[in-house]
Amino acid sequence: MRLDGKVAFVTGSTRGIGWTVAETLATHGATVVVNGRSDLAALDARVEQLRSSFGAEAMGLVGDVGDAATVQGWYQQIFKVYRRLDVLVNNAGVLDDALLGMITEKSIQVTLGTNTVGVINNVQAAVRLMARSGGGSIINVSSIIGTHGNEGQVVYAASKSAVIGITRSAAKELASRGVRVNAVAPGFIDTDMTASLPGDKYQERMNSIKMGRIGTAQDVANAILFFASDLSTYVTGQVLGVDGGMLI
Ligand code: NAD
Repeated sequence: MRLDGKVAFVTGSTRGIGWTVAETLATHGATVVVNGRSDLAALDARVEQLRSSFGAEAMGLVGDVGDAATVQGWYQQIFKVYRRLDVLVNNAGVLDDALLGMITEKSIQVTLGTNTVGVINNVQAAVRLMARSGGGSIINVSSIIGTHGNEGQVVYAASKSAVIGITRSAAKELASRGVRVNAVAPGFIDTDMTASLPGDKYQERMNSIKMGRIGTAQDVANAILFFASDLSTYVTGQVLGVDGGMLI
């Protein structure tokens, strides 16, 4: 599972699953590029933490994954500093639940813009750099809602199902260039995103987990580590559920 010599970029990585992924990749020897949407101070603090706690080489890139020009600029910056990219984790995401009648245009734009367009923007730009460095591994963070849907989550489900379509299509297109593309589909994971769920909804989700416990960001990061590492060199186009048996 060692990632020595590899450069990894994780979007939306100042907190939650993204931060745990950044820590995990750094612990396993990778140089890690982290990203935050707008809070430069929080991003700088995370870069410093990666350097001091793990002795990792690290860099921060600020901006919105949905903005194509910003994303292009990130990869120019990665090339300038490291000359290569081996791993991309498309983790940045937003959740805005609403029943069908309550869905706003703004919510559709932000959710699809971040969760879907953001992934396309990064895959497009990353591939050029990965192909130059002899290949790479892209891991997209989908969701159990993307594979199975849920009431009140039509827009989020659309955005995360699209991530699976992107994963499978890009895997087919990029295999010959040495770039693998896989996805994880987390179930119910303990982060800021799920902490705000109303009590009855929270309990309902907990009751559906066969293992009887909520998932941790580390559970997801461990699956991503597998896809990032050379232990999965013959695996592409796959979607791995990380859900404690919610879907058995
Ligand atoms: P979180 O809200 O704690 O973290 C999301 C991160 O993405 C934040 O750091 C946020 O600033 C960043 N982000 C949001 N929009 C962005 C943008 N436009 N540009 C750049 N960064 C942006 O949530 P989390 O639970 O850690 O979620 C991480 C990923 O996992 C998301 O894609 C989410 O949809 C997915 N997921 C989470 C769960 C869960 O139960 N927590 C389940 C399935 C999938």
